[in-house]
Amino acid sequence: MSNTVRAIHPCQCAACSSGVDEKVVRYHRQINLLLSRLNEPQRRWYVGVLSQEPDSPSDVELALITGLDEKTIRRGREELQADLLQSPLDRQRQSGGGRPAAEK
Ligand SMILES: [Zn+2]
Repeated sequence: MSNTVRAIHPCQCAACSSGVDEKVVRYHRQINLLLSRLNEPQRRWYVGVLSQEPDSPSDVELALITGLDEKTIRRGREELQADLLQSPLDRQRQSGGGRPAAEK
């Protein structure tokens, strides 16, 4: 994985292209700003969550907004529905800095 600063994806949705709805434009820019700070799995999980909100845009629209492709969005959603079991937290239990486990 590269450590280069990721450019913020410019939203391609109709609302942002026309620029009429300032609130939408600002919201989509914030989505992409946040995405620019996340790693790859986090990006698809976040958009997977967005895609399930009650009035969420379709995957096609989310793809325009975020620049992720529909397949990636679907994958993020599926991983969330599987409780991210395929994506364990790495390093969670590796650092030996904690207290010793209580004895039983
Ligand atoms: Zn937009």
